[in-house]
Amino acid sequence: MSTNVDTLLEALPYIKEFHGRTVVIKYGGAAMREEGLREDFATDVVLLKYVGLNPVIVHGGGPEITQYMERLGLEVRFHEGLRVSDAETVEVSRMVLLGKLNSDIVQRLNRHGQPAVGLSGQDGSLFGVAPVPNADEVGFVGSIERVDVDVLNHIAADYIPVIASSASDRDGRPYNVNADEAAGKVAAALSAYKTVFLTDVVGWLADPADEGSLISQATVEEVEAGLAGVGGGMRPKLQACVDAIRGGGQSAHIVDGRKPHSLLLELFTDAGIGTMVTP
Ligand code: ADP
Ligand code: MG
Repeated sequence: MSTNVDTLLEALPYIKEFHGRTVVIKYGGAAMREEGLREDFATDVVLLKYVGLNPVIVHGGGPEITQYMERLGLEVRFHEGLRVSDAETVEVSRMVLLGKLNSDIVQRLNRHGQPAVGLSGQDGSLFGVAPVPNADEVGFVGSIERVDVDVLNHIAADYIPVIASSASDRDGRPYNVNADEAAGKVAAALSAYKTVFLTDVVGWLADPADEGSLISQATVEEVEAGLAGVGGGMRPKLQACVDAIRGGGQSAHIVDGRKPHSLLLELFTDAGIGTMVTP
């Protein structure tokens, strides 16, 4: 157990290293669902801004969207980690993502002392999407073909951008977008120094049924080689790590967001947690 001053001294080189750097944070899982963890997350992000980093938040809303769909009697289905999305599903997703989750994150960051601005893929034409290749199976799920970071560059100097994973195609048709993909593409477009994915597992597991099989470090080549064998929501997450690194990132991290302050622990302590992907 270290004393308080040791903790501060341990953080100092990281604070120096990260000063002025952009960090993209994919927010999701328990850290977004549980009140205590939500407050911890807001505290952490605000602290990053105070010590001179440029945090950019990207979030989805899986469980809450599912919950609202069930309330409305809509069928919930997933295919290879993607939500099967008919027009009604997309409509409910947008309402939950923007009307509820995004504004909740924004007001929480504001309340903790750093002003935030909520955005979706439509704002400032941030994302341009096209239907995913297997659109006949998953419906209105878009893959991001273009990221225009101009709007982020305007906002991020003064505010914390909070991006909901929703977008429209060039004809204005709305699409669901996987939030991990959105985070990876934003990170790549900004050449974010680090990208951190908060999720409900300890990281990338060699055997998804065994929490002891954590892969704590992998290169992009190793991730790409393993990608075809990975299923569920971990596949888009790993692909997003690859995108972030290929876009110029120094590292991408998949960390356990069920643990309080996992974001600060990852960034400012020597303890490597979760899976780290490096060039
Ligand atoms: P998030 O909301 O963070 O995007 P997802 O449910 O989309 O979470 O993705 C993470 C999930 O992927 C894990 O909770 C786990 O059920 C699943 N998964 C599938 N394969 C693996 C793997 N090899 N390692 C870790 N998790 C895996
Ligand atoms: Mg996911």
